[in-house]
Amino acid sequence: MPTSKVRVRFAPSPTGFFHIGSARTALFNWLYARHTGGTFVLRIEDTDKERNSEEFLGVIYDSLRWLGMDWDEGPGKGGDFGPYRQSERDAIYREYLAKLQAAGRAYEKDGAIWFKLLGERSEVFDEHRQKTVTKVANTPAIIEDLIRGHVERTEDEDFVIFRSDGNPVFHFVNVVDDIAMKITHVIRGEDHLSNTSKHVELFKAFGVTPPQFAHIPLILKSNGPGKMSKRDQGALIEEYQRRGFLPEAVVNFLCLLGWNPGDDREKMPIAEIIRLFDLPGVNQSNARFDEKKLAHVNMGYLLELPADRFLAHARSHFERRIEALAGVPTDEAKASVALYRSAISAPALFREVMLLSQPKIKSVEELPAYTGYFFSEDYPIDDKVRAKVMAKGDPKARLRELIELVRTADFGSDLALETAIKDLATAGGLGFGDYQSVARLAVSGTNVGPSITGMFRVLGRERVLARMERFLAAA
Ligand code: GLU
Repeated sequence: MPTSKVRVRFAPSPTGFFHIGSARTALFNWLYARHTGGTFVLRIEDTDKERNSEEFLGVIYDSLRWLGMDWDEGPGKGGDFGPYRQSERDAIYREYLAKLQAAGRAYEKDGAIWFKLLGERSEVFDEHRQKTVTKVANTPAIIEDLIRGHVERTEDEDFVIFRSDGNPVFHFVNVVDDIAMKITHVIRGEDHLSNTSKHVELFKAFGVTPPQFAHIPLILKSNGPGKMSKRDQGALIEEYQRRGFLPEAVVNFLCLLGWNPGDDREKMPIAEIIRLFDLPGVNQSNARFDEKKLAHVNMGYLLELPADRFLAHARSHFERRIEALAGVPTDEAKASVALYRSAISAPALFREVMLLSQPKIKSVEELPAYTGYFFSEDYPIDDKVRAKVMAKGDPKARLRELIELVRTADFGSDLALETAIKDLATAGGLGFGDYQSVARLAVSGTNVGPSITGMFRVLGRERVLARMERFLAAA
């Protein structure tokens, strides 16, 4: 049950995939409702029949659910002010139109229905449009925006509220529904600020005090001055889901696009964000999309995941990759599918490998490539890394010494193994790194990965020895 009268709404138009900007608008509405103990309404603005699709609508529901933004009223949930899809509210719009007509504030011209502003009228030649238009001497609409501050804008021309095809226009249905649904705060993207004076005129014509407005700044692309577009990497919420980001990390990251807790904290539990979030705290300046920040926040959440949740999460990412590659006819794709299948069909090894990698990765999407060599003896050797490692000192001699060490070393403890390698290095006047780099190359084919001793332990003595010997024989 709501504990305050605050009613906010997220009002998406299902005309495209669910964009990061929309998700952030939804989130700021949701946060404000949860912060104030108010009500979060989901309203679908689907009056544009040509451009709407059920597929896009499904993506909106899925993405909101995935991100944990539960709505209190809306499709599938009900509420006292439904229906919550504008395509089902035609009767309500006709009723509100009749009110305007009765008050002499709507008229017909050229098949369309126009909203009539108040004020003296005069015919003026508009240079820009090269035609004569009717200007209205109107007073400015004043908006005390909770984020932008004081905004004044004058509407000086009547505008269409029902098109000649009989469909109502966005401005009209948007305002009617905000009135009918008793919305107290309109929180939306800054791209709508320029529409707000039209909306204020409509509210006034209906004799209703407008809600409070809060226009959220734009999201800029990671480099350059432009606004983030649907084509930019990271623009679609689905993409994060597909790539295996944690929803709690994505939500946390979205909160930081235009808001901060007043200090430089980044990773914060959602309960804490709800406690601190407020509209005057939203920045006026544009937010910049920063994928590195997302990766950093995601890594923080991954580190904290209990083993079983991490494993389930890792496993579903392998399954998603298998599914995505299953139909791809290239040899590479087939090899990857076979590798990932063998990984998840060896649960004990899978568990150890994933837990060893947990503190090292920013996102589970790195895991298949990061861990491939654990699940197959046929792992590739990176030529560049090989050239670099083999050029320094006498790596073959180091590898021979390591083979001797591995034959008898204590594999039960990472620390004991590490100490043994360190002692070996010290005895020869060398460093741990001289042994580590060639060992890593031989055993994994690369120079990145979890700790070398953890890697040895998980692979086991026999596999480590066999790999080193095979590498040495070919070197
Ligand atoms: N349907 C509009 C949009 O998707 C909503 C505008 C509003 O929130 O008032 O941009």
